[in-house]
Amino acid sequence: MSDEDLLRAKTISILRTRPCLDIRFSIAGITLMGYGYGYIADMLALDSVHVAIGNTGGFTATYDNKSNTITFGTRNPADLGTVDGRGTVIHECTHAVIDAVAKGRSVAYGDDEVAAYLAQTVYSLNAGDKINKVGPVAGPLYAVASKIRAAQGVYVVDPAEIVGVRAQILAVYTAIAKSQGKVVPTTTVMSGVP
Ligand SMILES: [Zn+2]
Repeated sequence: MSDEDLLRAKTISILRTRPCLDIRFSIAGITLMGYGYGYIADMLALDSVHVAIGNTGGFTATYDNKSNTITFGTRNPADLGTVDGRGTVIHECTHAVIDAVAKGRSVAYGDDEVAAYLAQTVYSLNAGDKINKVGPVAGPLYAVASKIRAAQGVYVVDPAEIVGVRAQILAVYTAIAKSQGKVVPTTTVMSGVP
């Protein structure tokens, strides 16, 4: 097996676990459910969503919605098994789920990122992982993720409760993009996952 195959197998195994399949919330008109992650696991197994190793431009991993490719900065599958690594897998696969369920829709970059961070936080809490719960980004994510987990049905995230953390994340991503000579897009039209 190639390193990419090993990373793909590790990613699929993380998606097909209870803490991931129990993710359930709605944000910016997009509903993220466990079966969305199961679908991405299937698409990874079919190589319709691809795994690559390469330059991730200052991030630990990226998802490109046009090529349906998750690119990891590491080639070591053991890195994906750590608390941070599993969080990163859920984060990038959330972008893939959004790409799949919001095909043809224009999604704000800030909403796409907040959704990925919220899903990652819900996953970490579901998994019993030790995560940062304070600070301008981690604090609000923890607060909203706790409400998502406590809800009986599908928790609908109120834009007002994420406005601060959304701005914080956009500021960080804008700075990282600038350091790479790039700009962050305002919105992305989702191409879908075949
Ligand atoms: Zn992201």
